[in-house]
This record gives sequence, structure tokens and C-alpha cells, in this order.
Amino acid sequence: MASNNGAQSRYAIETVGLTRVYKLGDQEVHALRGVNLQLEPGQFVALKGRSGSGKTTLLNCIGGLDQPTAGKVIIFGEEIGGWSEAKLTTWRRQQVGFIFQSLGLLPALSAYENVELIMRMNGVSAKERYRMTVDCLNLVGLAKWMDHRPYELSGGQQQRVAIARALANNPKVIIADEPTGDLDSKTGREVLGIFRNIIRERQIAMLMATHDSLVNDYVDQILHLQDGQILRIEIPEPEEEEELIPVG
Ligand code: ADP
Ligand code: MG
Repeated sequence: MASNNGAQSRYAIETVGLTRVYKLGDQEVHALRGVNLQLEPGQFVALKGRSGSGKTTLLNCIGGLDQPTAGKVIIFGEEIGGWSEAKLTTWRRQQVGFIFQSLGLLPALSAYENVELIMRMNGVSAKERYRMTVDCLNLVGLAKWMDHRPYELSGGQQQRVAIARALANNPKVIIADEPTGDLDSKTGREVLGIFRNIIRERQIAMLMATHDSLVNDYVDQILHLQDGQILRIEIPEPEEEEELIPVG
């Protein structure tokens, strides 16, 4: 989608004073209290915080699935708050990859068809759809399994189908909510490695909510969220340092 309002930004994702208050009867839940963050293209950022700290709310606001009470979400220099529902839908379909914890794979469709679907919705030609689908399944090491339905695949394989699907529209931004939560640590590492490579290669900005301590070896930054606020930004040690053999 061409979005040329003269807006330019070095950031793929930016939030300014992002605030979300849920009203439950006469109670107010302050899910987000002024979140400021920036992700550049090619940056892999983890969002950590205990349950209820606001991770899902933040991802939903950035993905345009929830409306902030105050503050802004700015994607490549454009504030999405002013967009119509139609424009948001098109944008999500064309430029954002979503990976939710409940993977949302369609059980009646094969791995191939699950990945291909978004391209059908985007009107991509049959030839290009085939090429992209096989490409994405190859990236996650699942091309051999493309004819299998989700229930014929392991949890880790289903997770990879969900990743392949999130990549199928060639997104500039990926938003993932606990995508490795249900995986054993070996599969979790494989999935994180796939993310890291694809993010670098395609200069995608990825924000991922997680509890997983494995992510420290893969991400560029960890944002620690508490009670709807970013408490601190952690820059993990580069992975190579772990390979140093302690002397003595
Ligand atoms: P996390 O993903 O970190 O567990 P959430 O973003 O789901 O946190 O929730 C943050 C806070 O907002 C919690 O107190 C939660 O109960 C509340 N909350 C989330 N969604 C809603 C909603 N739709 N209505 C009311 N309260 C909500
Ligand atoms: Mg959550």
C-alpha cells in the first residue's frame, strides 16, 4: 500500500504516550499508562512482563486491533489512529504479520493452504502464490509437510506453519504474542533462530511478547513492562560471548 503523506520516519513502529483504559462497569483498568517505544526496520524486540502487565493490549493497539484511549501508534511515520477500518484492514493484510498464541490455523486447510490464504485475499496471482508459499514453508523447514493439515502436525510444526503464514504477505512488521510459549526449548530455539534470520534478511521490525528466557540470545532489545509502563530497556549480551570458554 502506498502511503505517501510526506511522512518519513526512521522507525517502523513508534508509540507515543500510548494509553489504554478499559472500563468495567464503574471500574477502570489502566492496561497501558503512557508507553513510548521505537523499533527500527530489522530490529527484533521482546516484550516481557508478568501476566496482566499489558503486553497483549500493547500488541493489539500497535496492530490496530484495539484503539488506545490516548496516545499514538505511528507506523513508518504515519499515525494509524486516524485511519478508517477499511484502511486498517488493508494495511494489516498487506504489511503486518500476526502470530497469536492460539495459532488460528484453519483445521480444514493443509499447511500449504493456510499459508497461501492471505495471498488469495490480497489478489496475488496463482503462480506467485505458489512460489511464495513454497518459499515461506521452506524458510521454516516445512515444505515436505505442506499437504498435512494442522492436526497431522506436531505443536512445533503448527507453530512453524503460523510463522510461514505470518511471512506470506511479505510483512514489514511482525507482531507476535507468546509465539514460543508452548514449545520445548529445542523447538523454541529453532523458531527464534528462524525469526532472527528473516528479520535481518528482510529488514522486518518484530515485536514479540514472551515469558521465554531463551529469547535473550536472539533479540536486540528486551522491553520490560510492568503495570502498563516500560520499566526498563535491556540490551542482551551478544550471543557470541556465551561461547567464550571460562579460563581457570
Ligand atoms: P498481558 O498480555 O501482559 O497478560 P493484557 O494486555 O492482556 O496483559 O492485560 C492488561 C490488563 O488489562 C489486565 O489487567 C487485564 O485484565 C486488562 N484487560 C485486558 N483486556 C481487557 C478487556 N478487553 N476488558 C477489560 N480489561 C482488560
Ligand atoms: Mg497476553
